[in-house]
Formats: sequence, structure tokens, C-alpha cells
Amino acid sequence: MLKLLEGMFTVFKHLFKRPVTLEYPEKKQTLPENFRGKPVVNTCVGCSSCVRVCPTGAITMTKEEFKIDLKKCIFCGNCAYYCPKGAIKMSGEYELATEDKNDLELIYKLEGRNERN
Ligand code: SF4
Ligand code: SF4
Repeated sequence: MLKLLEGMFTVFKHLFKRPVTLEYPEKKQTLPENFRGKPVVNTCVGCSSCVRVCPTGAITMTKEEFKIDLKKCIFCGNCAYYCPKGAIKMSGEYELATEDKNDLELIYKLEGRNERN
């Protein structure tokens, strides 16, 4: 009986409080300014600094293209922090679920044109 009353007390305590959850995806949380979502690349000069500082080996580069494999990326932001040209930014994009794992490979031409995604 005591347990039942304790349970009812807990329910009543929370009955008039504002919910802490959101009706996602209809409603979305406001992201903090320093949120680190999908890395995006612009005007890359191909210096390879980001390749060296990426802790998971998610970035690979050939003469023609630059690839970030989001399957390996841990969104640490090192690549953006250490890029001398500010060419990589951590965007606010976090809805990255996909049925095709190839969508998680971001391929950029080195002159900055985004080929896929
Ligand atoms: S955010 Fe971190 S893990 Fe992802 S590509 Fe950049 S350096 Fe690598
Ligand atoms: S993204 Fe920045 S650090 Fe990486 S290769 Fe391009 S210019 Fe260099």
C-alpha cells in the first residue's frame, strides 16, 4: 500500500511539470553554437594537415579528391581546428542516418566542388 502511495505521489509530482523531451522530428532542439555535426569542406588547398590530425583515419586524399568517411568520423573537430585555411567547418547537420553506406563518404574535388552529398 505504501509503495502504491509512493508511486502516486511521484506521478502527481510530475503531472504539472513541463516535459523534458521533444516531439522529434516535428520539434527539434536548438543546437549550441559549438555543436559539431557533419564536417563540410570548401576551398581546400590539399595541404594534408587534416589527414595528419584526424585520430581515426577518416580523411583520405588523392591528387584529385578529398574524402571524409563519416563511418569512421567521431566528430572531434580536429580537422576543422587545425586546417590552416579554415576550409573545414563542423556544420550543425546531425541527421545522418541512411540506408546506403556510400552516402556516408563525402567526396570533394580539391578545387572545392562537392561531388556527392
Ligand atoms: S571530425 Fe575528427 S574524426 Fe571526423 S574527420 Fe575531422 S578529425 Fe577526423
Ligand atoms: S581541408 Fe584544410 S587542412 Fe585539410 S587538406 Fe584542405 S586545406 Fe589542408
